[in-house]
Amino acid sequence: MTIKPLQTENLLHLWEQGKRRHPVDRALLLHACAMPGADPDTLADETLGRRNRALLALRAATFGPRMPAYLDCPCCAERLELTLDVVELQALAPTQAHPVEVDGLRFRLPTSRDLASVAAEAESETAALRLFEACLLPGSPQPSPEALPPLIERVGEALDQADPLAALSLDSQCAACGHAWEAAFDIASFLWDEIESRAHRLLDDVHSLASAYGWSESAILALSDARREAYLERISP
Ligand SMILES: [Zn+2]
Repeated sequence: MTIKPLQTENLLHLWEQGKRRHPVDRALLLHACAMPGADPDTLADETLGRRNRALLALRAATFGPRMPAYLDCPCCAERLELTLDVVELQALAPTQAHPVEVDGLRFRLPTSRDLASVAAEAESETAALRLFEACLLPGSPQPSPEALPPLIERVGEALDQADPLAALSLDSQCAACGHAWEAAFDIASFLWDEIESRAHRLLDDVHSLASAYGWSESAILALSDARREAYLERISP
């Protein structure tokens, strides 16, 4: 299906709704914007890969398919600039969610609801264990407690492989010091940051134009980007 771009009013409304929410809830809000009309409960049960795929499509529709990003080298703090391509990242999505098997245990892929259920856990080990338990399919044998820590790690790797879009990582190498590392890329927080800076720019524009001409917020937001910019140029050439 074709995902529609976020229009000015929707974008500001989304920013208002999401600014005080937890990142997991923000990602769900973005998912709902990408799939208007979809039942929020159903969206919460979609795999993280499917959610991220929808978010990439929303990003491409709203801001274009090329994503300028940067990474800071963890060794020397050099800033590396790169451009990510939505189409290339979307190609990583699995065609269907199927159970992942590790040592005879079967797991389903994690969903937004699973992430939300562990979001309040302070310890990452506890969160990983809770996710492991949530995704273990009924009928699988119960692993012994001493086998759990290495098993949880291997299951995490197997789930990442099965659903590469769920937790994207980028192979990176620093041009200054040569350090190579895997950098996590979270499309939900990337897109949220873009929406937030766009919202701030729009509010600045409303402030400037309302101060200069006395127009209402809704009248200013109803202007096309081209007209708004043309008026802004006239008040501060
Ligand atoms: Zn470096």
